Amino acid sequence: MNFVKSPYIAKRHWEFEEAALSKTNEMVKRYDDVIDLSIGDPDYPADKRIIEAMYKAGLQGNTRYTEFLGDEELRQETINMYKEDYGFDFQMDEILITAGGTHAMYLTMEAILDEGDEVIAIAPYYIYYQPQIELPKGKLVVYNTKSEDNFDVDLHELEKCITSRTKAIVINSPCNPSGKVYSQENIKGILALAEKYDFLVIADDIYCALNYTDNRKAICSYEKSPKRVITLYSYSKDYCMTGLRLGHIIASKELIATMRRVNEAVTFTINSMAQKGGVCAIKNRKEIQKGLYKEYYDREMYIYERIKKMNNIFCNKPEGTFYVFADISKTGISSMDIWEKILDEAHVLMLPGSGFGQAGEGFIRIAATVGINTLKEAFDRLERMSIFK
Ligand code: PLP
Repeated sequence: MNFVKSPYIAKRHWEFEEAALSKTNEMVKRYDDVIDLSIGDPDYPADKRIIEAMYKAGLQGNTRYTEFLGDEELRQETINMYKEDYGFDFQMDEILITAGGTHAMYLTMEAILDEGDEVIAIAPYYIYYQPQIELPKGKLVVYNTKSEDNFDVDLHELEKCITSRTKAIVINSPCNPSGKVYSQENIKGILALAEKYDFLVIADDIYCALNYTDNRKAICSYEKSPKRVITLYSYSKDYCMTGLRLGHIIASKELIATMRRVNEAVTFTINSMAQKGGVCAIKNRKEIQKGLYKEYYDREMYIYERIKKMNNIFCNKPEGTFYVFADISKTGISSMDIWEKILDEAHVLMLPGSGFGQAGEGFIRIAATVGINTLKEAFDRLERMSIFK
């Protein structure tokens, strides 16, 4: 008897990941001076105030199950924050606290997808959307954007991806990997298509504090109350809390009730101390995020300026996140091969763009999760490579 369930999910995704991982491990072992620009994990610990709030909450006995929808104080603080920052109003039964963005996406897909339902992802897209959509037997439909169009969405082209099975579209703005912030016209156009064809818009807002443009309007605030937009949020990047696993979903009362039921069978409730840390994070958000914003903005601009001075590699001015998605198609080498070449010759580890969907072929993703001095060393090494001279 084969006890392992037949592998029905995201074959291409796992094959890619396993190949890239084993190759990385093998190559990284060869050198002892590899600079790692591959991981989307902030290089700062969570703010001390957040840790202290968690510790204090634990000592005060906040170590038991919380409400199924999440800690009441945290939900109320989140409502206050959306009202203050975006002028967006919602109710206590329209939010579910989650263990981060991955969990939020899992609950969303599980709650909305029947077998064969389609979800559109705007490529290049976050690697895990594929397994997240395919796990509940949904189908990923890819809409490709192009770097030469500044990754803008062409609404007429997007409309061609819509079928009678389209259940949702995912918008990740600022976007991992492209750093793109979609224009208000693009968002309005996508929402109009969602109205016309009756599907949902899933806003993956995980990088919303790392937005370097003037267009900071949250996608949920294009509506009066949660109806067609499902907002997914995570404290991972905006507060450097990847390991603490905290996030939320804002959606209609009906959808939240279903997600809550799903979650009762998945995690039951969320880490009680992390949720109190979340209350502290929101209360101090402006101060905590100010320093992070500046640091990641400066690093992004540093990478942008260095790339401008090199040959055969280009990038758009970063609009958000801590990634730079650099076009290396001029080298004539595939993104998998250039990824290997860079690792081999410069001992710098990045991610091949092809892992982010077909639109990512010809690109390499650079994560600015090391300090400027290390970035300088990485780019000095890249500049010495003959293909970039
Ligand atoms: N969505 C996007 C676009 C991401 O880049 C990530 C992590 O890199 C996630 C979701 C999930 O993050 P987490 O589960 O840590 O909240």
